[in-house]
Amino acid sequence: MLQRIAAVLGRRVARPIAALQVEITTRCFLHCTFCPHETLRAQWRAEDMSLATFQRLVPAFRLAKFVHLQGWGEPLLHPDALRMVEMALDLRTALPAWHLCIIP
Ligand code: SF4
Repeated sequence: MLQRIAAVLGRRVARPIAALQVEITTRCFLHCTFCPHETLRAQWRAEDMSLATFQRLVPAFRLAKFVHLQGWGEPLLHPDALRMVEMALDLRTALPAWHLCIIP
């Protein structure tokens, strides 16, 4: 379905979507007080998006000027994070934002 939407929209306007946000993980090692990691701690599910699911999203990246791999989680904790970046860059999609919070 995403491939069909991308094909139809892509014919009309190059990259008609300003930005897509993809939350590749909900895992994080920090404890920001405003974050659902803290406010919903009892219900929070720490999970990674599978590479197969990410691959299904990739065709939609052609529609976007930017893809943000961020959300309520630290994307660099995902074991396939760099592979996901490579896949997005293969489509010449800009990746301007990470939710980097690596603390030495
Ligand atoms: S996901 Fe972001 S906001 Fe939430 S605890 Fe981690 S660093 Fe803080």
